[in-house]
Amino acid sequence: MDDVSRLLGGSWGGRLLSRTDPGFDEAAGVVFAGDGAPPALVARPQDVSEVRAVVRAAAETGVPFAVRGGGHAYARYGTVAEGLVLDLRLLGGVRIDAEARVGVACAGTTAGDYTRAAAEHGLATGFGDTLTVGVPGLALGGGIGYLSRRDGLTLDNVLGAEVVLADGDVVRASDDEDPDLFWALRGGGGNFGVVTRLDLRLTRTRVVTGGLLAFAPDPRTVGALLEAAAHAPEELSLMVNVMKAPPAPFLPADRHGTPIVVALVCHSGTPDDADAALAPFRAAGTLLVDLVRPQPYPDLFGVAPGQAGTRLAQRTGFTGGVAADAAAAVIEAVRTAPTPLAVLNLRPMGGAIARVPRDATAFAHRAQRVMATVGALSPDPGLAGAASDWVARTADGLGLGGAAYANFVADAGASAASDAYPPDTLRRLREVKHRVDPDNLFRSNLNVTPAEEPEPARA
Ligand SMILES: Cc1cc2nc3c(=O)[nH]c(=O)nc-3n(C[C@H](O)[C@H](O)[C@H](O)COP(=O)(O)OP(=O)(O)OC[C@H]3O[C@@H](n4cnc5c(N)ncnc54)[C@H](O)[C@@H]3O)c2cc1C
Repeated sequence: MDDVSRLLGGSWGGRLLSRTDPGFDEAAGVVFAGDGAPPALVARPQDVSEVRAVVRAAAETGVPFAVRGGGHAYARYGTVAEGLVLDLRLLGGVRIDAEARVGVACAGTTAGDYTRAAAEHGLATGFGDTLTVGVPGLALGGGIGYLSRRDGLTLDNVLGAEVVLADGDVVRASDDEDPDLFWALRGGGGNFGVVTRLDLRLTRTRVVTGGLLAFAPDPRTVGALLEAAAHAPEELSLMVNVMKAPPAPFLPADRHGTPIVVALVCHSGTPDDADAALAPFRAAGTLLVDLVRPQPYPDLFGVAPGQAGTRLAQRTGFTGGVAADAAAAVIEAVRTAPTPLAVLNLRPMGGAIARVPRDATAFAHRAQRVMATVGALSPDPGLAGAASDWVARTADGLGLGGAAYANFVADAGASAASDAYPPDTLRRLREVKHRVDPDNLFRSNLNVTPAEEPEPARA
């Protein structure tokens, strides 16, 4: 690490923190810290030239290297034991061009920073369900949330990117500038360089009708909600959770700690159309709580259940639907789960997500009906093994596996890249990786290793 400090010393204007420096723990922290060792150094650049210097120092010294945006990766990609972390948080900044309907997010921008700035103009770009997530980290892997069935995934709204490559060069990627790199960035995660700026399409979004519907744990309710989603207008995006009711004041006290079915819905069409669009969802079972109401779009966030620990077991996949017997098994599994936050999360796809051609971006799962994730969070290390077993059993029961959503992968095991990317997508990603990062400097991610030799060009 002395070499890194030496290479960055002198004219480098950013902050370099080692373990004894005040503020190191905060700078080195990530959401799912688990039990891994901290990095040795955290470099916090404040402009693009400082990012380039860090990338060059990492490449020259060969130290273990990670790039951190918002720090929310389930697989802890934003840190590296005993290595160098490039922390992008001081490189924030949002610009909204309301007339052109383009938003610019610099590397350290969170979904919340951007969503609030865009809302001042009655505009939005769809992200996920949580405002603290980093915009580039989310967008490079996918980005599914409250506007996805209307506007597509976040990556479908990326118009261009500025990227610092492994050799320190700065390039632009868009439909007209290095289209292969642009294709790879949209789904291929942080494999290709440090994205210092993203240009994103904005869509008029002022008041939405959204919030939480909580139902009694009837297995038929899960299927009825998914069926309603399959026939819903594209302005309606939602997720469904089967989980234990948290001790929230808006949930009946006698349900706390027992399984419930929760739908988090967002209708982003005109409020006049919302009631008709939401009627089949409200009729999907015995409604315990209905918090759905018209509200400014940014107010919708905060309805997702909070994190209850830093140790996570999770398996993600896709499904065509959840039959009543499978839903009954999940409800029973949730009832007896070893950790307080054990959940089946279902995200109906379709709409604008499905209209994008399969090979237009590196996110190829366009034809899937429902994204499904089983997760268990625990504050207690002693429960980690039981939580993992619970996730494996519950996910196996639903037949999840094989195809995965990159942003929800929590276990970056050997099959992670081939689960996230079908063979043709992975081959093309490897070709781009080979060109821009042949030594695999950027590997603290859902790693796409460089191809030995690029495939010969197809005639
Ligand atoms: C509480 C929570 C809620 C979530 N909800 C959703 C959701 O609703 N929908 C959804 O789609 N996803 C969701 N996610 C997943 C999230 O999108 C991914 O974990 C995402 O990669 C996080 O990005 P980050 O920058 O915050 O994390 P980090 O851990 O900092 O980064 C994640 C990866 O992206 C890379 N990266 C980050 N910034 C850059 C950059 N500027 N240039 C190059 N590479 C970069 C990192 O190197 C790392 O490999 C959620 C995650 C959490 C923890």
